Amino acid sequence: MRLTVPAEYQAWWSATEACSGQTGQLNRIEWYVVPDAHSFETPEGEKVGLWTHSNAGVRIIIAGDYADNELVVRHEMLHALLDREGHPEEFFQTRCQLTWDSWGTTH
Ligand SMILES: [Zn+2]
Repeated sequence: MRLTVPAEYQAWWSATEACSGQTGQLNRIEWYVVPDAHSFETPEGEKVGLWTHSNAGVRIIIAGDYADNELVVRHEMLHALLDREGHPEEFFQTRCQLTWDSWGTTH
């Protein structure tokens, strides 16, 4: 179901723009949440968050249990800002610490 973007997402978006050096429009993203879910099935296996960019636009899906989890939400925001899949170390670890392993070292 569509997620009404919580106010804190704007701050998280700004922080992710700042660490990555990228800029983008938060309101271009359609957000969806899987209610009461700890994870959900994707073609690549179980995930807690998923970013997709297709002809239909930019979408981010978040498992309900993680909709207020800064790491999970900002990780998907970084995919959107970089407009790519995969996790280049420069951005996901060095610059933004938006992986499970790197998150704990700075937050
Ligand atoms: Zn990812």
